[in-house]
Amino acid sequence: MTSSTRRLLIIGNWKMNLNRQESAELAEQLVERASLLGQVDWAVCPPFVYLETVGQIVRDSGISLGAQDMYHEVAGAFTGEISAAMLRDLGCQFVILGHSERRHILGETDEAIHQKVLAAHSAQLTPIVCLGETLNQREAGATAETIQKQFEGSLGGLNDDQIASTVIAYEPVWAIGTGKVATSAQAAEVHVDLRKMIRNRYNADVADVVRIQYGGSVKPENAGELLGCADIDGALVGGASLNAASFLGIATAECA
Ligand code: PEP
Repeated sequence: MTSSTRRLLIIGNWKMNLNRQESAELAEQLVERASLLGQVDWAVCPPFVYLETVGQIVRDSGISLGAQDMYHEVAGAFTGEISAAMLRDLGCQFVILGHSERRHILGETDEAIHQKVLAAHSAQLTPIVCLGETLNQREAGATAETIQKQFEGSLGGLNDDQIASTVIAYEPVWAIGTGKVATSAQAAEVHVDLRKMIRNRYNADVADVVRIQYGGSVKPENAGELLGCADIDGALVGGASLNAASFLGIATAECA
């Protein structure tokens, strides 16, 4: 159950998976059952090259489209990069930024993520900004400090409107794609801390509207308990979003 002002938001991050035909089939399966999901907001984030194909299928279905990354510059000589305006042009409403795979495999820094967040807002894209500790950091008792540092570094300096329309995804790195899920108590503790950070930096009204998703091996079997926590406002789903039944199972999970 979530605050009356915050609707649950379920996002499927397809990562670098599926070919064009598989992407189209999955999108079609989701659209067929989209009417079941009136109570939640949901979106799919296919690879860049399938955004147009999937975007045409989900258009007007209630399923939004998102991208998995973007570059902060508006245009120019940035070979291989994609701008926020290009994503808007393709019908994207969301963009995932600072995913742990980009932070840890591709070396993305909080500073780079911060620039992308500002560029996304300038283009009226909603950034979904991922934060999360590694297993070493958790075991060293450094979870709160890590989250605070990422929060300051990636989101510091946003104004009230920008932070209010940013989605934060708490994704413990040790739970992503590993099958290990944070307990609802572990997840809830970080979500409560994050909302406190927003309240302290901004105010209670702003803190009340920011959606904070949980991500890390979410599946239909554990979604109900996680989404039942007061400060967990949705899920960022990797593996389980590649199958229509399991993604829909998460999106329709009964809140405990
Ligand atoms: C993710 O990629 O953001 C994620 C949470 O992946 P998975 O659900 O597979 O752990």
